[in-house]
Amino acid sequence: MTRLLLVGPPGAGKGTQAGVLSEKLAIPHISTGELFRAHINDQTDLGRSVKQFLDSGQLVPDEVTNQLVIERLGEPDTDGGFLLDGFPRNIGQADVLGKYLAEVDRQLDAVVQLEVDEEVVVSRLLSRGRADDNEEVIRRRQSVYRSETAPLLEYYRDILVKVDGVGEVGVITDRVLNALRDRT
Ligand code: AMP
Repeated sequence: MTRLLLVGPPGAGKGTQAGVLSEKLAIPHISTGELFRAHINDQTDLGRSVKQFLDSGQLVPDEVTNQLVIERLGEPDTDGGFLLDGFPRNIGQADVLGKYLAEVDRQLDAVVQLEVDEEVVVSRLLSRGRADDNEEVIRRRQSVYRSETAPLLEYYRDILVKVDGVGEVGVITDRVLNALRDRT
């Protein structure tokens, strides 16, 4: 059983790695960014209420985000594990996740940190062309990462697995899988 969380700055390749890893490990990939974008595409009430936050690169309010994730984690396909990508993104969300998992008698196995320099991620994002990928929004998302999300690395220090996130997709996937295998 594998319950994992992927952390790294926007543009570190979390989504790509999470997709590959979830297939290899046969666990669902749960991306809050993707869940939000699906709601925006489908023009749901939730989508309408979160669009401004995604467009401006700010975090969606915790209550909305937490509820979405907790509901998703309640689905039976997570019984054998899951890979969270982009959640939690601040300490408050991490506390809510921890409480929820404790209630259902589960715990995280590892938090994988994809390490990539800020200049590298900014130039990657500029070439990606997603709706929230203009330079001002990219810089906002990096600064939100530094102030809100990076403290999670300390919060999860006991189960943190650091992986060099620069290189070919397959090479990085192997690094993650090896690092998870090697962890004590
Ligand atoms: P991502 O696809 O992970 O880069 O997320 C895209 C955007 O979705 C972020 O810039 C936030 O606006 C929003 N978002 C994703 N995950 C979260 C989260 N855990 N908490 C708050 N907002 C989030």
